[in-house]
Amino acid sequence: MRLLIIGAGPGGYETAVSAANRGVEVTIVTDGELGGTCLNEGCIPTKTLCHYAELMEQNRKAGIEAHVDFTRLMERKQAVIEQLRGGIEMLMGNKLITLVRGKAVFRDAHTVSVDGIDYKADKVIIATGSKSASLPIPGESNANVLTSDKLLSIDSVPERLCVVGGGVIGLEMASVFQSLGSEVTVLEYFREILPRFDTDLSKRLKQAMQKRGIKIETGVEVKAIEGNRVLFDKKGTETAVETDVVLMAVGRKANVASLNLDDIGVRYSNKGIEVDENLRTSVPDVYAVGDVTGHMMLAHVASFQGRRALNDILSETDNIRFDMVPADVFTLPEVATVGMTEDECKEKGINIKCMKSFFRTNGKAVSMDETEGFCKIVVNADDGKLLGAHIMGAHAADVIQEMTALLYMGATISDLRDVIHAHPTLGEVIGAAVNN
Ligand SMILES: Cc1cc2nc3c(=O)[nH]c(=O)nc-3n(C[C@H](O)[C@H](O)[C@H](O)COP(=O)(O)OP(=O)(O)OC[C@H]3O[C@@H](n4cnc5c(N)ncnc54)[C@H](O)[C@@H]3O)c2cc1C
Repeated sequence: MRLLIIGAGPGGYETAVSAANRGVEVTIVTDGELGGTCLNEGCIPTKTLCHYAELMEQNRKAGIEAHVDFTRLMERKQAVIEQLRGGIEMLMGNKLITLVRGKAVFRDAHTVSVDGIDYKADKVIIATGSKSASLPIPGESNANVLTSDKLLSIDSVPERLCVVGGGVIGLEMASVFQSLGSEVTVLEYFREILPRFDTDLSKRLKQAMQKRGIKIETGVEVKAIEGNRVLFDKKGTETAVETDVVLMAVGRKANVASLNLDDIGVRYSNKGIEVDENLRTSVPDVYAVGDVTGHMMLAHVASFQGRRALNDILSETDNIRFDMVPADVFTLPEVATVGMTEDECKEKGINIKCMKSFFRTNGKAVSMDETEGFCKIVVNADDGKLLGAHIMGAHAADVIQEMTALLYMGATISDLRDVIHAHPTLGEVIGAAVNN
């Protein structure tokens, strides 16, 4: 069995390593750095900055004068990337893996060409990821309008930052740069920031960020960027924000161009490559995983889709549940969500009850001076089954993991009530929500 993978982000390289560990001969092609968007321009660099933003906030709360040397911070960010990239390079040293650098183009379903050399395989996995989208408005290509990739390699903290888009990437950047000293304004088209999250989370995060001094305008339409002014419409009134840098964070689009998909018949739309539950495309022996499928654009989704595709290729089955994917936002405070939202349950006519606890009553949170936030658990009122969890507060992204496991196992509220949580921990917010 010969497998060819296009793209070395989490969807590509993790699948390559896993395939080689299972005795498959793999060729992996990438035209970018190993680790893809996640390692080089996404999860890891942003989380390095988020960590420093958190340190700044903690120092401020403790009355310690906080100042960040931005040049050193960016050097640290780069060092983190390089350290982790070194780890992937070592993994690529597996004797069953051949790493090819260059842009891959399909010749047919089993042949991919890179710089004029053809590589043949029994199965191909497309894991080419995504890139930042933009708004088709006047001024969108001005020099002061940056994508998240560019903002992550800026050489000084802008005095004023206007973030167009109140989704995950926009809000994380808004939170980081506000902590670093920028005056930040977020402009969001929808009625709430984080439109697909539980409304309770979106509303309370907005309040928390506003309390920290971030200006957030929701329900607005950005019309143009003229020099240092971002013009937007709010309920029919044209308004402007003065800024030095604009971050365009209006979503990401699948990297499908230049693969020659039309010639080999792989079906795709504006959203991404169409796949079935086993990540098979419309062409036999060709799979697609990760951001390029346009499903949840998250690194762990890419990795687990890769795992599912590989299992299918090797005729093995798994119990991965793509309806139980945790999603986190590393703002201050953090936000994390898994499973169904209250609104979604109501739309589906499910009889639910929502149970809550608050960080202000959690001993560890109080001792950390992190009392902002709550944990909301959505339960089926008829059979007690846990349906979803939504948390805002310190380390919410770590705390949510327990709920992911419980939801995966189909646990009920009585199961959760019997789980012992160590004291004092932030994880106690979960037990407290259902034991109140
Ligand atoms: C600012 C930011 C922050 C993020 N934070 C998080 C986070 O905290 N948590 C999280 O889960 N997700 C986060 N993400 C999303 C995460 O980075 C992506 O979901 C993940 O990288 C997708 O992995 P992938 O393997 O599908 O594609 P990618 O990581 O994008 O990798 C695809 C690779 O394929 C290469 N490629 C493309 N076309 C070709 C071709 N024709 N030939 C050869 N190579 C090609 C590209 O150069 C790229 O290196 C973030 C993203 C951004 C932008």
